[in-house]
Order: sequence, then structure tokens, then C-alpha cells
Amino acid sequence: MNNPSSSVFLSPSSVLPSSDVAVVGAGIVGLAVAYHAAKQGKSVQVFERNDYAVGASVRNFGLLWPIGQPGGSLLQRALRSREIWQELAERANFGLQNHGSLHLAYHADEQVVMEEFLSQAEEGYQCQWLSPDEVQRKSPAVKADGLLGGLFSATECTVDPREAIRKIPAYLTETYGVQFHFRSAVQSVDGGTITVGKKQYRADHTYVCSGADFETLFPEEFVRHSITKCKLQMMRTTPQPHGWQLGPTLCGGLTLRHYTAFQQCPSLRALSERYDQQQPLFKQWGIHVMVTQNHFGELVIGDSHEYGLTHEPFNRDDIDQLILNYLATFANLPDNTIAQRWQGIYPKLPDKTEVVLRPSDQVTIVNALGGAGMTLSFGLAEELIAGTYHHEPLGTDQKT
Ligand SMILES: Cc1cc2nc3c(=O)[nH]c(=O)nc-3n(C[C@H](O)[C@H](O)[C@H](O)COP(=O)(O)OP(=O)(O)OC[C@H]3O[C@@H](n4cnc5c(N)ncnc54)[C@H](O)[C@@H]3O)c2cc1C
Repeated sequence: MNNPSSSVFLSPSSVLPSSDVAVVGAGIVGLAVAYHAAKQGKSVQVFERNDYAVGASVRNFGLLWPIGQPGGSLLQRALRSREIWQELAERANFGLQNHGSLHLAYHADEQVVMEEFLSQAEEGYQCQWLSPDEVQRKSPAVKADGLLGGLFSATECTVDPREAIRKIPAYLTETYGVQFHFRSAVQSVDGGTITVGKKQYRADHTYVCSGADFETLFPEEFVRHSITKCKLQMMRTTPQPHGWQLGPTLCGGLTLRHYTAFQQCPSLRALSERYDQQQPLFKQWGIHVMVTQNHFGELVIGDSHEYGLTHEPFNRDDIDQLILNYLATFANLPDNTIAQRWQGIYPKLPDKTEVVLRPSDQVTIVNALGGAGMTLSFGLAEELIAGTYHHEPLGTDQKT
């Protein structure tokens, strides 16, 4: 259904294409802002420098991962985002797997941390402890040898980001008349004027959602916030044979120290120290290991975390090998053939879950959702557009 009232129009006074809202960047943050603004009846135009977004939003696992969020407003935001993803998947016709997640315990200290988490888990988490037999009924991939059990959570979902990032713009255009300008690198946003090469556009309000490029637009705003970049290495297998199903996304004990949700567990520190003593390379390269399956049957495997403003463009095979070796401690896969390897980069602040800045009355910057942009963007954008967003909601150290 087209909504003609929300179409971008040519303003007779300025003769510039004009809209209520402009968005710079068609990554997941920009799409989430565009979606909520359009749903409110605003006319929206989106500027993306590439033919489609090829940044972090297509390079991720595609995991919607509420279990990684600490209880309270971030968990609620993640759960709300998940609801929106589910609606959108149906309406925009892309796949979404609702399989939940399993953190696996092979050592007593991993089980202790998971039990501590369960004993304190507040409302919103949907978790339970599973015995080894129950774990194996959930996933044929889990290695039985030495398995003590696992923390199952029902809230995690998987999308294929390559598919979603292309289908959402088409849906927004068709349903709400959102106008996308691809191959349009925005050079400046000055009050209500957006400059793309020799062309200018106008908008009452512009949202700058430029991801890892925080050097082009409003760089001085970012410098004040000690922003950095995180590089991650990822792999994807060929589709698994004969329709084999992984079931829930699997991860091992290393993931417990990666997400903020588990930081409240008293025994996490001792567990982390054991890992550091036994395998310091995991800490050095920021490795924790997850495997998920998209609806094409491919397994997505990662990842590592390296921080700095400039990154080598080259992937390190030893890092991939460390990831695959750790994966082999908890998962048996029918076909281990790696079809694709890549790296992704996202911006990150040391002590914030996102950055929302207002360099002027007409501009809002939304960035640095770190490793949780797929999980949080739709809920965050809904709060921003509705005017209910509270700056620096928790001040938590989001590790992802
Ligand atoms: C390897 C990896 C795995 C991850 N896994 C997960 C996961 O499983 N779950 C999860 O929740 N999160 C995950 N994340 C994090 C998530 O992918 C990011 O938080 C999210 O994609 C960031 O979205 P974004 O829109 O801010 O950035 P981007 O996706 O980088 O989009 C920004 C867009 O802005 C465009 N742009 C920039 N400047 C301009 C300009 N001047 N003019 C026009 N266009 C411009 C760029 O071309 C780009 O398309 C992962 C990230 C990585 C890298």
C-alpha cells in the first residue's frame, strides 16, 4: 500500500527535493529510523553511498540476541526490537529463524556461572537449565563428551542480513513511499540542507546513521567521545546437507564473558581468569565463538574483536583457526566446508551502549551500537522517533 501523503515533494520555494525526515546511511540503524519515521506518517528520504548497504549490517551473524543484554531497559529494548523484526520479516518477506540459543557447559565453573545467571534472571529472560540429554534433543550438533548441560534461552532469532538489508528498503518504498537515494554519498548536512555532490536536498530533520564512517559528517562530535573501531573475523559454511538443522544458536563458555548480561555473576571473574591462563590468545584476539544457521542452511561462525582506529585489511588465518578449534570443542557439523570468510568493522565507545548526539536542532546522530545493532536498532529508533528515548540509559559497559 502506498501512502501518498508521505511522499517526498519538490518544494516550490526552494525547488529542492524536500521531506520531513532525511536519513544518512541504509545500514540497520538508518533503516530502523526510516521505518519508524515513515510509520508515523512522515515523508522520508534515505541517502546511502553504495548500491545497498555493505557495512556491518550485512557482515554480521544476523543474530537478535536479547540474552546478551542486561536486565532492565536494554533487555526491554531488545525484546521490543525482536517483535518489530518478526513483524517486518513477515511483511517484507525475509526469513527469520526463531530457534533460541544454547550456552554449553563442559566445565563446572561454566555451569556455576550459568546457574548464577539463572538464579538472578529478571523478568523478560526466558531461560532454563537443560541436562545433557535435553541439550542433545535440542541440537544434533552438540558434542556429548564431557557435556554438563546448557543454558537454553528462547528469545534469540536469526535473520540473513544480506537478505534483510535489501528487502527492508523495498518494503519501505512500497508501503510508505520512502525514497532511497543509493550511490549518494552525503558530503555535508548543514541545518536542513543535505549536499550530495552538486545536488542539494532539504529535510526538517536529518538522522546521521553513518556507521563506521564517523570521519565524514560531524567528525568533531565523535572525537569528543573517544570513539574507536572494532574489527571482527567471520566465516560461513556451504549449506548443510540433506536439510540438516542446527537448532538453537550454539556458543561455548567463552561467550559468557563477552556479553554484559553475565557480568553480574559472581563467579565470572574466576572463570575468565582460568581462560586467560589456559589460552591467552582468546583474550588477545577477543575471541568467543558462536555458530548459527540461516534459513538457507548455511552456518555462520565467528568471531574475534580487535580495537583501534585503523585496521589491517587482511584477515589472519591463525585467528580463524582458533575460532574453528574452539568450535570443535562443542559442535560436530556435518559439513565444515568454509565457503566465505570476511571481516566487519563497527564503531564502539568504551562505556556506552550507543551514541545519540544533537549537533543542531535539525540533526541527530545515531551510531556506535557496537556488536548489538541488529538486536537493538528497531527498539532504539522507535524510542527516538516517539521522543521517549532517555540519553545514556544505563551507562553500562557494553562489551559486545
Ligand atoms: C562481524 C560482525 C558481527 C556482528 N554480529 C551481530 C549480531 O549477530 N547481532 C547484533 O545485534 N549485532 C551484530 N553486529 C553489530 C551490528 O552489525 C552493527 O551494530 C550494525 O550493523 C550497525 O549498523 P549501522 O547502520 O550503524 O552501520 P552500517 O551497517 O555500517 O551502516 C552505515 C551505512 O552508512 C553509509 N554511509 C556512511 N557515511 C555515509 C555518507 N556520508 N553518505 C551516504 N552513506 C553513508 C554506509 O555506506 C553504510 O551503509 C555485528 C557486527 C559485525 C561487524
